[in-house]
Amino acid sequence: MIFTDIKRVHLELTDKCNAACPMCMRTNASGLKPQSFIKNSELTLQNIKHIFPKKVLENINHFSFCGVLGDPAIATECLEIAEYISPIQIEMDTNGSLRKTDWWYNLGKIFSKNKKSVINFHLDGLEDTHHLYRIKTNFNKIIKNAQAFMKGGGKANWEFIVFGHNEHQIDEAEKRSKELGFKSFILKRSKRNDKIRSYTDKEGKEHKIYPPSNNYLPNKKTEKEYLNSQDKKIIDCKVSKNNRVYVQYDGMLHPCCYIAADTWKTGLDINLIYNMYDTNTLNLLKNPSGSIVDIAKNNEIFMEIKNEWKNFNPSTCDRVCGKKYNSVREIRK
Ligand code: SF4
Ligand code: SF4
Repeated sequence: MIFTDIKRVHLELTDKCNAACPMCMRTNASGLKPQSFIKNSELTLQNIKHIFPKKVLENINHFSFCGVLGDPAIATECLEIAEYISPIQIEMDTNGSLRKTDWWYNLGKIFSKNKKSVINFHLDGLEDTHHLYRIKTNFNKIIKNAQAFMKGGGKANWEFIVFGHNEHQIDEAEKRSKELGFKSFILKRSKRNDKIRSYTDKEGKEHKIYPPSNNYLPNKKTEKEYLNSQDKKIIDCKVSKNNRVYVQYDGMLHPCCYIAADTWKTGLDINLIYNMYDTNTLNLLKNPSGSIVDIAKNNEIFMEIKNEWKNFNPSTCDRVCGKKYNSVREIRK
């Protein structure tokens, strides 16, 4: 079995988002509209109580409000769900450019119930650069919301993805993060921006997003050297060792966000595995309340995925965990 229990949960509250980051799974880079599979749906508080009744919650020690397709803060009942789950530790990732400051202040009060709970506000640059990738977001609004959240007692990190257009601002951003009271400044490079990417805006105009310089690779090695230095011969599942499952916005249970993301694509071996079985067996909203632990331990799709590891399949597992290689790597804190 992949899981022997559930201790940690990566929770995707919704597939909605106010932003249009061109390289996000939910965004069509030709015109920046949402992909056709986006349903603009979400988990309600009632859904969460069905999936995680108190007796299940008692056993869980960490929630991550993040996901593949949406921003948790846009979910209608995000605040109520956080309240229900607290004081369990919650880590949340958000673009932060939505809702009013009083909402963030109240969320800060909820997050203050656990000293380890934290929000990562995604701020990829400063006033003049942040929106170049985080399209439809506003730097100043995010800063105001983060300040309100911290005033409510919540801890916040400033998370900065490095691009060619913002790498000259790293030091200034870090300085401001300290002045504003952010707990940590986290610098990241995404594999998605390891080469020049193009997108077209809604008027059809083409834009390019440039990667950062090699200064921001781990250990200052080149990307190729880094990959070649990894052991490619084992599948070292990131989630099995800490019993961390992924719950999607529609109630589907997946082993991890990488598998979840690949199920939205077509023609991959993971699709073949899922198609071999009844996927309703993984939908927590179509199964009895509190059955998540049993399903994670015993579901035949999960069994089949693990069974394939000896062949370095499915390709998702080989790509993500077969090389001990993260698609998003933290550079420094
Ligand atoms: S803020 Fe997050 S979910 Fe929204 S478009 Fe950007 S990367 Fe995707
Ligand atoms: S991609 Fe496969 S091996 Fe890696 S964390 Fe997910 S389930 Fe585990």
